[in-house]
Amino acid sequence: MSDLRIAIVGFGKIARDQHVPAISVTPGASLVAVASRNASLPGVPHFSTLADLLREGPEIDAVALCMPPQARRALAATALAARKHVMLEKPPGATASEITPLIAAADAAHVTLFATWHSRFAPAVEPARRLLATRKIEEVTITWKEDVRVWHPGQDWIFEPGGLGVFDPGINALSILTRVLPQPVFVTRADLDFPANRGAPIAAELELSDMAGLPIHAAFDFRQTGPQSWDILFQTDQGAVTLAAGGARLIDGDTIVAVAKEAEYPALYRRFVELASERRSDVDLAPQLLVADAFMLGRRRIVDAFEG
Ligand code: NAP
Repeated sequence: MSDLRIAIVGFGKIARDQHVPAISVTPGASLVAVASRNASLPGVPHFSTLADLLREGPEIDAVALCMPPQARRALAATALAARKHVMLEKPPGATASEITPLIAAADAAHVTLFATWHSRFAPAVEPARRLLATRKIEEVTITWKEDVRVWHPGQDWIFEPGGLGVFDPGINALSILTRVLPQPVFVTRADLDFPANRGAPIAAELELSDMAGLPIHAAFDFRQTGPQSWDILFQTDQGAVTLAAGGARLIDGDTIVAVAKEAEYPALYRRFVELASERRSDVDLAPQLLVADAFMLGRRRIVDAFEG
C-alpha cells in the first residue's frame, strides 16, 4: 500500500518538535508539504496557505492541523471538503460545539477525522488504566502546574479567548483522567483566575465527580517556577497509585511499575495511518466538554496582570 501523503499546516513549535520527527519514523506515512504563513521546512514543498497547497501543491491524502485552536475549525472544514483525512492537534478546537459538524463532514467525505489527545499515548497511561480497573478508586487529585514562560514563550494566542489559557496543558490531564477512569465524570465547581490584562485563565481549581460521587480535585497553574508538576494521584482501596511526569511513570504505593521513554507522537501517527486506511474517525470530546463546562460554571477572579 502506498504511503499516506501528509501536509503539516501551521508550522510552529509542536510541528517542529514532534510532528516532523514522528512522521519520519512512522511506517506508511510521509511528509510531502508544509502550509504555513511564515515558516517552512528546507527540502519540503512550502505553501503560504492550505488553499494554495490544495490548488497548486503536490497531491496529498491528509493534513495535520498544528495551528492554535482558534484557527483550526475553518481549516479542518476546508480540508474535509477537499476529501483529505484530518488530524487535529489538541484541543480539537476553540469551542466544543464546532467539532460535531466536522465529524459529519468527515463521514460525508468518507475520510478520517482524528482528534488527537497526545497525553493519552504517554507510556504509563494504559498500564494505569489496567491497574485502576482492579481497584476501587476513592479520591483523585490532579496537580498540573507549569511555567508558561518556559513552555509557551511568546504564544499570546494562549491567553486570547479560545486559547484556553491554563487549560491548554490542563486538558492533557483531563484527557488522561477520562481515559483511565471507568465512569464518565463531570465538573461540579470551578474557580478561574484571569489576569487583569488577558482573556483566558492563568490558573484554575476544579472539582469533578462521577455518578458514584468520586471526589476529584484538579489544580492547574501556569505560574509554577522551579519543579514542574504533571501528576495524578489516585487513592484506592489498596493504597495510592500515582501517574507521574505527564503519564510517563506509574507508581503503585512505593513501587515504580511502569516507566518508559516518551513516544507519544509516533504512536499518534501510527493510529492516524491505521484510521485513514480504514476511513474511520476517532473523536472523543470528553476532555473538551469538561473544559467548556469549567468555563460555563467557573467563578471568575481577576488576578495580577501577566506580562509574558
Ligand atoms: P505556535 O508555535 O504558537 O503556533 C503554531 C503555528 O501556527 C504558528 O507558528 C503559525 O505559523 C501558525 N498560526 C498561528 N496563528 C495562526 C492563525 N491564526 N491562523 C493560521 N495559522 C496560525 O503553537 P504550538 O505550540 O505549535 O501549538 C499549536 C497547537 O499544538 C496548540 O493547540 C497546542 O495546544 C498544541 N500542542 C502544543 C505543544 C507544545 O509543546 N507547544 C504540545 C502539544 C500540543 P505561521 O505564522 O507560519 O502561519
